[in-house]
Amino acid sequence: MILVAGSINIDFAVQVQALPAPGETVMGSAYLVSPGGKGANQAVACARAGAPVQFVGCAGSDAYGDQLREALQSDGIDTTSLRRVDGQTGAAFVTVGSDGENTIAVASGVNQALREADLPELNGVTHLILQLEIPLETVRAFAQAARRAGVHVTLNAAPAHPLDDELLGLVDLLIVNAGELEALCGAQAGAGLEYQLEVLSGRGPKAIVVTLGADGAAFWTNGRCHRSAAFAVQAVDTTGAGDTFVGVLVAALRHMDLTAAVQRASAAAALACTQRGAQISMPRLSAIERLLA
Ligand code: ADP
Repeated sequence: MILVAGSINIDFAVQVQALPAPGETVMGSAYLVSPGGKGANQAVACARAGAPVQFVGCAGSDAYGDQLREALQSDGIDTTSLRRVDGQTGAAFVTVGSDGENTIAVASGVNQALREADLPELNGVTHLILQLEIPLETVRAFAQAARRAGVHVTLNAAPAHPLDDELLGLVDLLIVNAGELEALCGAQAGAGLEYQLEVLSGRGPKAIVVTLGADGAAFWTNGRCHRSAAFAVQAVDTTGAGDTFVGVLVAALRHMDLTAAVQRASAAAALACTQRGAQISMPRLSAIERLLA
């Protein structure tokens, strides 16, 4: 069983020609309302890739909370640890440009209510996936408990945030995008990628994957840097690509090594770029396998 702990949000997305500059208003037409949140997205990506998944998080007492719970359940995800909390469900306001790039502002709502006490029993859990849209102290407590129980810990250090070595030392697999890597690198910010990965790995994580958008991914394992190309697709919306990558990567690690798992995650993330939305654009195992064939 894979346990995903993190945020669950309702996403409001508007498509525009060019992303607005500060102070600028740009006009779009229709908007899309869809389930999101890095935690919930990664849980869905994992489940669609064929893994048994349990989600732990907090949904609000508004109608969105119930809607999001049902969305997870429809993907076969165990939601017994999704706590209903009085207050607003988290919400993300997404702007998508014509080139598929996006900007996102998130109102955390009750995602900030997730506490150490929410962690369910870890019996039967082999992998834990965490991100940074919930309180940092909860992330730390969950990682510590997982480490004690011998559970493999993946931290997707997103959104960008500097982290201390104590937390990094609890992480088996660290996954970041280029901006998040810079935020973690401190004195090494702006240095070459390979050097940054070497220094970062010295702070604790056993393996590190950096996603590089259309340039694919780089990963550090066993003291070496490797590259993996992206799959060529017509990208219309990259929202959820990073989350798809994380969820599918960890689902794949149950059966294969990091090199093969990164390739599988890249295929899934590329497919997620070909449709609008976060969870609704995430591929199923059959589509991933067709692209890999
Ligand atoms: P994030 O969305 O978290 O910033 P990235 O932009 O790095 O993450 O994208 C995550 C992964 O999604 C990449 O490593 C790549 O595999 C895939 N991806 C992103 N953009 C494209 C694209 N234009 N074409 C193909 N694959 C893409």
